[in-house]
Amino acid sequence: MASAPLSEFELIERIRSQVTHNPGIVLGIGDDCAILSPTPQCSLVTTDMLLDGRHFILAECGPEAVGEKAMGVNLSDIAAMAGKPIAAFVSIGLPRQSADTTALGILKGLRKVAERFNVELAGGDTNVWDGPLAINVTLIGETVPPGPVHRSGAQAGDGIFVTGPLGGSILGRHLHPKPRIAESLQLRACMNLHSMIDLSDGLASDLRHILAASGNLGAILFDDAIPIHDDAWILASRDGRSALEHALCDGEDFELCFTAPRKEIENLVLPDSSNWHPVLVGEIQAEPGLRSKQANGQIEPLTLQGFDHMIASKQFDDAL
Ligand SMILES: [Mg+2]
Repeated sequence: MASAPLSEFELIERIRSQVTHNPGIVLGIGDDCAILSPTPQCSLVTTDMLLDGRHFILAECGPEAVGEKAMGVNLSDIAAMAGKPIAAFVSIGLPRQSADTTALGILKGLRKVAERFNVELAGGDTNVWDGPLAINVTLIGETVPPGPVHRSGAQAGDGIFVTGPLGGSILGRHLHPKPRIAESLQLRACMNLHSMIDLSDGLASDLRHILAASGNLGAILFDDAIPIHDDAWILASRDGRSALEHALCDGEDFELCFTAPRKEIENLVLPDSSNWHPVLVGEIQAEPGLRSKQANGQIEPLTLQGFDHMIASKQFDDAL
């Protein structure tokens, strides 16, 4: 016998009984507004909307992965500012024919990631409609001393670093982001970060955001230093584009790209438990424009672009 559909109230009660509590929340789910306790630090607020057929394919990945991705991409933005996450507000448009199972699956995915990062699900909204699944997460965080890291602080001479291998996330990693919150806080605590961004659109695009925000600076990337993910090699063997091109352009790696004086990295001592180290991939230069230094030493303008959510919708379909 089919079970009766969940009412909105029952769904909210189910969520409320399962949330992780964060001390920054005075009042979470269940009233007209959530109440956050004031903090001596600045608040960070970020929001990201994901759509079925655009950022995931529900029929293929299932609702739990959607919840994981929706929470993970927002946490990645908090990491990009060197912040600490506190609370998430989730709004969902559920497809009518599978509203209950989709909602509960998404909740499972959201909770899985929220618990890992001590984020409280503190509010939101659910609606059922005849359209495809749409989910929006707004995440609140706070800065940590000595303050947030902006995109706009890069300086000529800075080293450009990334926190992990890039490319090929469309093979599945894009659904299970590993937000670099801990790595970001470690870096913030022990070195002078000049600028930072998370790699959602690909290094070739996201680095340009840093350059533009920092006063139209330029940069050179060292081709043979870019850490290339195994998935990029797999994709390259299928589509004829190089693995390096995938590493520079694919996007949704959710690693961090940051710039800092090179000597800061030489003095960087990470805890013994850390299983990562920043990788130097290039240098900020005063001359505008993005260039690449190829393995043979030749320097060429880098014309490759990363993912653009407004104009490259077909890229997602083609890659699957
Ligand atoms: Mg971002």
